[in-house]
Amino acid sequence: MLNLDKSLFKSFILNMMTGSNIPGFYKLNIEERREFLMKFSDLTPEEISLLRNMGSLGENIADHMIENVISVTEIPIGIAVNFLINDKDYLIPMAIEEPSVVAAASNAAKMARVKGGFRAISSEPIMIGQIEVSGMPDPFGAKFRILEKKKELIEIANEQDPVLVKVGGGAKDIEVRVLDDKEPMIVVHLLVDVRDAMGANAVNTMAEALAPHISNMANGHVRLRILSNLATYRLARAYAIFDREAIGGKEAVDGILEAYKFAKLDPYRATTHNKGIMNGIDAVLLATANDWRAIEAGAHAYASLNGYTSLTKWEKNEDGDLVGSIELPMAVGIVGGATATHPKAKLMRKIMKIESAKEFSNVLAAVGLAQNFAAIRALAMEGIQKGHMELHARNIAISAGAIGSEIDRVAEEMVKEKKIRVDNAQEILKRIRGK
Ligand code: NAD
Repeated sequence: MLNLDKSLFKSFILNMMTGSNIPGFYKLNIEERREFLMKFSDLTPEEISLLRNMGSLGENIADHMIENVISVTEIPIGIAVNFLINDKDYLIPMAIEEPSVVAAASNAAKMARVKGGFRAISSEPIMIGQIEVSGMPDPFGAKFRILEKKKELIEIANEQDPVLVKVGGGAKDIEVRVLDDKEPMIVVHLLVDVRDAMGANAVNTMAEALAPHISNMANGHVRLRILSNLATYRLARAYAIFDREAIGGKEAVDGILEAYKFAKLDPYRATTHNKGIMNGIDAVLLATANDWRAIEAGAHAYASLNGYTSLTKWEKNEDGDLVGSIELPMAVGIVGGATATHPKAKLMRKIMKIESAKEFSNVLAAVGLAQNFAAIRALAMEGIQKGHMELHARNIAISAGAIGSEIDRVAEEMVKEKKIRVDNAQEILKRIRGK
């Protein structure tokens, strides 16, 4: 009876709402939220049933992951093949809506195999928690007083996460930076070894626990206590030699070096160059439910430490082969966050046979390097658009209405005619169907 009353009340409320200011939207269940959308956005019953497809997450997991859930999104997951990293073979799942990324990574990894694949190393998983203090009269004195009590502060931080300490991680060090000595502001960096976690929650909890102690020691006010995504102590590095003949001879090597020089010197080019790197890295992060925004932010900030530039370096060795390397912050986890709750994310890790966050960082760095190689090789040789558009042709065929076997036929026809456009796809479709 009580439940019936509640649901009648909810329907009454839903019917009364006409704007986007919906108090208690979060209290509705998923189906009630859809019901509201149906009215607000004039959705058809077919559109509502599309929303009801909840994939492997199901309503229960999804509704507990974020707020105001109505459905899940779908992005294809493709497997990048051919990756040999530190002498181990990997099949790498990539979730991405953009055609040609998976093919390009696989092709680059195939070429890297000729000279032994990728080597990769990652530093210890040390994250930085920032505690900002202002209002003290003597910032340099405050710095001294905090550093003098380093051991005590580290102990307090570690009391917050016995599990992390048990697996060999925990707070390890403290640094203090004076940001402004006129209107004093200092920032305390708490360095935490987060082992196999991305670490944001672990670090934030520790930073919050230290805040009152630091405030007392500094004789100032603590305001912000939050992880920094510029994880300069947690770097992933990968390296590969690309055999000159395997990648297209001297012309290819020189073309790639010139493309690299362009990115090194010009931030407009470097942005797109680095976007290509992140095409690969983000796709693997998405497939494994990692926080790709965190890695994106860290990567671009790292690229701009001395003026925005390329995250990769390209050189030629004494044999005329191409030598590529990459270095970037890599705060990824295989425990914690959504990585632990998302059934498909867990499955993707199983497919990769990854055993630690460090190993995962190595894989991601190698993927970034491979993706960059593929992009600048294509740009330097034939231009990227040809291959890209050929792979994109199938998407265009679908958007023109092609289904089943029509998709490939329309795509092939457009490529043959060198007119990869929706209007042409519609024409071809008419022709095919007319026959
Ligand atoms: P978490 O708190 O869910 O899991 C980490 C915890 O797992 C550790 O504190 C530890 O107690 C435990 N653990 C068990 N085995 C472990 C092992 N082998 N290695 C390490 N820890 C182990 O997650 P988290 O990694 O602390 O935080 C990640 C989440 O924080 C992500 O979802 C991210 O989106 C979110 N987040 C990010 C930011 C940011 O990037 N600025 C800010 C806030 C939150």
